[in-house]
Amino acid sequence: MRIGRCFPSGSARALVASRLVALAPALGVAYGRVAIRAQKSCWGSCSRAGNLNFNYKLQFLPPRLQDYVIVHELAHLREHNHSARFWAAVAGVLPNWRSLRRELRETKMLY
Ligand SMILES: [Zn+2]
Repeated sequence: MRIGRCFPSGSARALVASRLVALAPALGVAYGRVAIRAQKSCWGSCSRAGNLNFNYKLQFLPPRLQDYVIVHELAHLREHNHSARFWAAVAGVLPNWRSLRRELRETKMLY
């Protein structure tokens, strides 16, 4: 669900933009438009056209989990699924992705 612009997205946008610039070359992908949204139940998503959406709550996560969410969505630009090839792409940048994924699930910040 999209709530609109009545939330403070400025700092989320700035941090996402800087991490995308740093991490996209590691995955060898190019992305399209980037939107910061008040999504209820997901941290990020990507479209087939290469546009990325991130949850504004990303700014409240520790940096290692911010990177996990961003790398996850960037890896989807290479593999639009959760296949072994997808996770291999994630692991190429974040070898400890399993523990990061577990930690993110345990944050309980989305419900
Ligand atoms: Zn995914």
